[in-house]
Amino acid sequence: MKIQNLIKEGSEYLKDNNISSHILDSEILMSKIIRKNREYIILNPNYKLNINQLKSFKKLLHTRSYGKPIAYILGKKDFWNYEFEISKDVLIPRPDTEIIVEQVLKITKNKSRCSVLDIGTGSGCIILSILKEKPFFYGTAIDISKKCINISIINALKLSVKNRVKFFKSDIDNFNYGKYDLVISNPPYISKLSLKYLDRDVVNFEPFNALYGGLDGLSEIRKVIKKSSELIKRNGKLILEIAFDQKLKVEQLLKDKGFYVDCVLKDYAKNDRCIVSTKI
Ligand code: GLN
Repeated sequence: MKIQNLIKEGSEYLKDNNISSHILDSEILMSKIIRKNREYIILNPNYKLNINQLKSFKKLLHTRSYGKPIAYILGKKDFWNYEFEISKDVLIPRPDTEIIVEQVLKITKNKSRCSVLDIGTGSGCIILSILKEKPFFYGTAIDISKKCINISIINALKLSVKNRVKFFKSDIDNFNYGKYDLVISNPPYISKLSLKYLDRDVVNFEPFNALYGGLDGLSEIRKVIKKSSELIKRNGKLILEIAFDQKLKVEQLLKDKGFYVDCVLKDYAKNDRCIVSTKI
């Protein structure tokens, strides 16, 4: 059967299962099956699948139909200028989080050397993108999950920055190593109430530990700010990702721990998403 018709059928099947990105997803899954990019698929609508490929395509469609995110099915996700390996144990890198990378590059425009700590590194997408852009920066990445650390090491090797980053499997409370010019973190910040409103693909498939920030969503942010105030050098910067409704509370937490709030940046949906502060 020709891929053009299969993609259409696949798309309809996903649509019937309430997958909003059904056309794109059907194309992406087809490109995984025939190991070609989407451009090839569009240019070769008459390409035919063999029986095994057809079975595999149907299996992938089925997996997607019950909500498993495309990134987990593919085992990879693009972030910033790079492709990251991911597994169900790490949060899928989000375009909104690229704002942290953008800010770091802006703030450190005239700096050639810098020590950066990433708290809750997950796939390593933030710190590794920064190290890739800044060849004389050194990174330290911590995560409470050993599985995350393993994935981030794979990504560091893939991006050839492994020699400039140290990894620690550690809880933030028990981490007391080094002093940093810059601390970055995208901690779990979803409150108990907001969990209910998350996309089913997110709550059902992404690691709960990477999302849930306690009753008010601020439990981990509090810890990150407290620990950063000890580990950051004077005049060092802390850049945090926050939930759309946490700006005022996080500003206060930062001030209480001796930080000056430089700015709050909005994400692509115009929600407050990233807060930049300086240790004074
Ligand atoms: N931005 C993610 C979401 O809303 C949450 C990430 C996090 O808790 N750090 O799905």
